[in-house]
Amino acid sequence: MKLSSSIRTLPLVGPIYLRRLEKLEISTIEDLLMHVPNRFDDFRVTSPISKVQPGEVVTIKGKVESIKNIYTHRGKIIQKAEVSDSTGKIQISWFNQPFITRTIHKGETFAFSGKADLFDRKITLVSPAYESMEDKQDGIHTGRLVPIYPGTSGISSKWLRGRANYLLNRLLAINDFLPEKIYKNFGMPNLFQAFTKAHFPENLEDAQRGKRRLAFNELLFYQLKSLYRKNEWSKNKVAHKLLLDKKVYEEFLHTLSFDLTRSQIKAVSEIFEDLKKEIPMNRLLEGDVGSGKTVVAAAASFVSFVNGFQTVLMAPTQILAQQHYETLHKIFDKFKVRVSLITSDKVKADLGKTDIFVGTHALIHKKVKFDNVSLVIIDEQHRFGVEQRAHLVKKSGRGNRAPHILTMTATPIPRTVALTVYGDLDLSTLDELPKGRLPITTWVVPPQKRVGAYNWIREQITKYSVQAFIVCPLIEESQVETMKEVKAVTVEFEKLKKIFSGLNLGLLHGRQTLKVKNDVLEDFREKKTQILVATPVVEVGIDVANATIMIIEGAERFGLAQLHQLRGRVGRGETKSYCLLFTESHSSTVRTRLVALKGSMSGFELAELDLKMRGPGEFLGTKQHGFPELKIALWTDTELIKKSRAVAQEALDHPEKFPKLIEIIESKSIVPN
Ligand code: ADP
Ligand code: MG
Repeated sequence: MKLSSSIRTLPLVGPIYLRRLEKLEISTIEDLLMHVPNRFDDFRVTSPISKVQPGEVVTIKGKVESIKNIYTHRGKIIQKAEVSDSTGKIQISWFNQPFITRTIHKGETFAFSGKADLFDRKITLVSPAYESMEDKQDGIHTGRLVPIYPGTSGISSKWLRGRANYLLNRLLAINDFLPEKIYKNFGMPNLFQAFTKAHFPENLEDAQRGKRRLAFNELLFYQLKSLYRKNEWSKNKVAHKLLLDKKVYEEFLHTLSFDLTRSQIKAVSEIFEDLKKEIPMNRLLEGDVGSGKTVVAAAASFVSFVNGFQTVLMAPTQILAQQHYETLHKIFDKFKVRVSLITSDKVKADLGKTDIFVGTHALIHKKVKFDNVSLVIIDEQHRFGVEQRAHLVKKSGRGNRAPHILTMTATPIPRTVALTVYGDLDLSTLDELPKGRLPITTWVVPPQKRVGAYNWIREQITKYSVQAFIVCPLIEESQVETMKEVKAVTVEFEKLKKIFSGLNLGLLHGRQTLKVKNDVLEDFREKKTQILVATPVVEVGIDVANATIMIIEGAERFGLAQLHQLRGRVGRGETKSYCLLFTESHSSTVRTRLVALKGSMSGFELAELDLKMRGPGEFLGTKQHGFPELKIALWTDTELIKKSRAVAQEALDHPEKFPKLIEIIESKSIVPN
């Protein structure tokens, strides 16, 4: 049996268990061993029977003198056993587990771990764990730190424990894929020890040590994957070399109504350097909401245009695509750049040929011909699947001619994490907002202050002619809007119309046609409506400077990073802006989280905080951050991430030093096509 063997080869795994294991994403032996316990029952204290005291958790070992089911008056069944060792006898009882009398037989030797109590003035072990000791010395369910596995549908900790033990007894010969020097250097155990310690540790420090090595492995393969992808990317592909005359670029800068920020200038120059090369660019532009990514993208497409090529810009929503289309139109009018808009609802092309295609994923499917593309830009890249992105890139290439690629995200991913997840991309960061933005005041609004808040909002709107967004709660964590959310927002909209009677309200959600959406937005831009009620998914990228109040309903359901993004929709003009976080939750962790938002205006800081504060099993997954779930490692473990990165790089540079690792990588087909 090998680590890579299918879980089917494991005894006791039939079709039913296969399906249950699949739900836990366990399909190989290795997956099963990587499913490590999240806590332990401490059954290490063993005691002669005569010494057992009420109230203590102990393990005893002895001969079963008797065992039987007893039926109570109330129709319950109690299992009672008597067990003896050389020092005395003890009573054991369970409730409603009649099958136990079929497992434990009179005359056999068993170990029992559990809490002792007084029953009818007799010391009794109540519902202990039990394990036959007929032909062995040490148990796995009793008499030690007993592993408890994270919540699983239909798979008990006892079952998993048994399987892990079975494997560890047979996999003694697991070869470590790392040279001894490497893990020893980090003070880590070898692979076999790591699995053993993680599942069946002698003590809790041991468990930590085992888990740490496994976390390291997990990160290492992540790193290797992205480094391999990076290597593959530039192989056998050539891009157009794009050059830009300084004077021409200055003309472009003159058309803008503002000066670029320091970090915009830096990002632009990093991109220009990439574009000059024949190796296709593959760069991620990461920047907080409102940091001004669009104009950087415009600068890149300008280079493509000046060199006589086309650019394709894909955005996740129709509204965003429309907005980009208008922005680019404005910037490029003077240069006679022809911009087209392509969404599933419509194709709006300028006369003749197109220089810049702006659109949604319709760009991939529609019969639009890209015959001269040198640059592909993907906005809010995490909203697209890997395949969608790959599709667009492929459609834009010609033979071995590949386009340069610029992906953009407002998801504030800490740099170490970005280097792991997007290690195949080069990274540019916009870490400042344009000058002159006023800080946004953030309030957490508990239920008893709701009415007061509504009155205050009305007053602001009528007194200062400002506008407000009201974002409805996130119901399900998914990239697309669910019907539930559409219904909820519609109900809320009707309610709000009454609360804000006399004002005009607009409703925006993802299931509306593009025409309706545009009309709603147009009305809001032209101040015909004062309040825009919207679902969470619609939020990205709406740019209305007169909107200065952001109200978020059910704020506890959002991650900090996402709340921060929503808040970024206001505070764009010269008027003071406010963000009101409505919550019905009284939980103190929720409060702490929301209050953190008050204190910080940095998306990066908040993302990091969010990762640290998030407990397991919370509603919010890492999906909101756009990066994947780890099984054992933590994205906050910067030190381990860096170590794994260094080893991955070394393995790539000196494969001869890592023969076993390279073998695994090749057999796992880590290298994508
Ligand atoms: P995001 O990074 O969230 O996509 P945008 O590109 O939409 O941000 O820019 C947000 C707003 O900031 C836009 O109205 C844009 O015109 C403006 N902006 C961008 N760069 C600057 C700058 N350097 N100075 C002033 N305003 C800017
Ligand atoms: Mg944007």
